[in-house]
Amino acid sequence: MPPLLQVDHLTTYFFTDRGTVKAVDDVSFSLESGKTLALVGESGCGKSVTALSIMRLIPEPPGKIVSGRILFDGTDLVQLSEPDMRHVRGNRISMIFQEPMTSLNPVFRVGDQIAEVLELHQKLSRKEALDRAVGLLRMVGIPSAESRLRDYPHQMSGGMRQRVMIAMALACNPRLLIADEPTTALDVTIQAQILELMDELRRTTGTAVLLITHDLGVVAETAEHVVVMYAGRVVEEAPVSELFHHPLHPYTQGLLRSIPSLVEDDKRRLEAIPGVVPSLLALPAGCRFNDRCKFAMDRCYAEEPPLMTIELGHQVRCWLYVKEDQNNSG
Ligand code: SF4
Ligand code: MG
Repeated sequence: MPPLLQVDHLTTYFFTDRGTVKAVDDVSFSLESGKTLALVGESGCGKSVTALSIMRLIPEPPGKIVSGRILFDGTDLVQLSEPDMRHVRGNRISMIFQEPMTSLNPVFRVGDQIAEVLELHQKLSRKEALDRAVGLLRMVGIPSAESRLRDYPHQMSGGMRQRVMIAMALACNPRLLIADEPTTALDVTIQAQILELMDELRRTTGTAVLLITHDLGVVAETAEHVVVMYAGRVVEEAPVSELFHHPLHPYTQGLLRSIPSLVEDDKRRLEAIPGVVPSLLALPAGCRFNDRCKFAMDRCYAEEPPLMTIELGHQVRCWLYVKEDQNNSG
């Protein structure tokens, strides 16, 4: 069976007065039904732009999907008309964001906001929609769901609001849920609860999850497969246990060293990766990670490494893994 989502050489640029921002540059990955794929990297690496490209929510201009395909259930979303895409967005792909306060309307009761989604997309009556809203709030573990319907967003905690957002996102039984930093604004205990909830809902509903995060720690227990992005490029991709046990790219190794929970266990020092992501307006020649990499060699400043398959399902973009014969053929 073909994957539910297949992102194929996606390239999304922003054409600004200051130059072309190559936010997503030839990115490919795929996600099967009912699975979780994590897209990981620091802020500014292109994760969110990838998500917004899939949703076709790139502001155009200045943004544009310049090339590539986004096959969703066999249809190329890049080619869809805006009305068709609106249907996909409401019913088949939903997205949740980092800060629910910005996506929930502060002046309407939570129940009315969920009901509105159901009235709009599922053509339910008000009464049916409110009944279903109670069921959804129960599903995401909100106690006293019936009375909570009458709350305004500010009457709820951050964790509760994120549960409400998940309930809204799942209201129309989407095939794909895109979660962009869904737990970043929450404290650690609540983070774990929300991730657990998403994972449980994925298992019970079969909704595939594209989890976007800067924190590899969040990925360990939730995702099957991880794609690491750096400066608009995929730099490594692997099944989650493979990535944690055999990280190949120096950037991935650095991300792993900066996870507090892992470091505590084996008493290594928590190290942040020195330096910052290069400006996407002025990318360095060669490997985009070269100015932060302690293994950088001459070649790394001259040529960008290709994405290479090391073993089944494990790919890396780094000259350290190019064998001599490949080296000569360039
Ligand atoms: Fe480091 Fe070179 Fe590999 Fe880039 S290609 S990550 S600079 S060793
Ligand atoms: Mg982001």
